[in-house]
Amino acid sequence: MTQEYRVLLYYKYVEIPNPEEFTQAHLEFCKELGLKGRILIAAEGINGTVSGTVEQTDAYMEHMKANPLFEDMIYKIDVADDHTFKKMKVRFRPELVTLRLENDIDPNKTTGKHLKPKEFYEAMKKEDTVVIDARNDYEYDLGHFRGSVRPDINTFKELPQWIKENKQNFEGKKILTYCTGGVRCEKFSGWLLEEGFEDVAQLEGGIVTYGKDPEVQGELWDGQCYVFDERISVPVNQKEHIVVGKDYFSGEPCERYVNCANPECNKKILTSEENEHRYLRSCSSECREHPRNRYVTEHQLPEEEVKRRLEAINREAQLN
Ligand SMILES: [Zn+2]
Repeated sequence: MTQEYRVLLYYKYVEIPNPEEFTQAHLEFCKELGLKGRILIAAEGINGTVSGTVEQTDAYMEHMKANPLFEDMIYKIDVADDHTFKKMKVRFRPELVTLRLENDIDPNKTTGKHLKPKEFYEAMKKEDTVVIDARNDYEYDLGHFRGSVRPDINTFKELPQWIKENKQNFEGKKILTYCTGGVRCEKFSGWLLEEGFEDVAQLEGGIVTYGKDPEVQGELWDGQCYVFDERISVPVNQKEHIVVGKDYFSGEPCERYVNCANPECNKKILTSEENEHRYLRSCSSECREHPRNRYVTEHQLPEEEVKRRLEAINREAQLN
């Protein structure tokens, strides 16, 4: 038996009858197999990331292939040393990706043109083209396609409104969209078409597929790709690695994410280990002084020590 692990990333927009029952059965099946991960199921389809041994992940794909609904589902496969999740969660949701549109989009009917990595690479270099990152700000900040637009949004559902507010930047342009694995762009590019943009295309298989493509080898990607499991990031550009992430406190190049220690804030911040300690892993003075600050509890910092560090930060701020 091999000790090698794999991570599967996949989605499919397909009508699932009795999705809530399917969710329950699917959870039991995944647990029986020994997989870990996070799968979302809706009446409109499935979207998942799971980790497991080669045998477990093979068994999963075979099982899905035997189901006519999922027989042609595409899997992006990564090699890993271990599970990349702690638990196995399968959740029923009203939507695969939360957009809450007034008029929902069915990507099987309306979606942007699918471009293979090489086609997307060529299209990015054309004039009158705008590349829109369809992910959240913290995902963009760790890595993105060179010259792509960074929507100023915290969650995906804010994206349509942001586009409407900045419409003049995109009108009359060729629009390219991309996301991690492709599931968000299927809907987002469809929405752009409905909104009246005429030339809309999306990166088929997302960034993850682009990074593995033997021809483009992730070219024109800067930084790393944010992923929603314990790995947090994966490499994309096989030819060069340009760090675009910046330390939240010092502005120095940085690709290390932590969550703000204020449990009510939880903001993702890029920072070095050194600055994590200096700033009590907190994004603001309010967060540092929060009574339930997790950094303070984890490190069992006595009150005087917290005070001493807060004073040091304030002194420094005054100097700058
Ligand atoms: Zn905070």
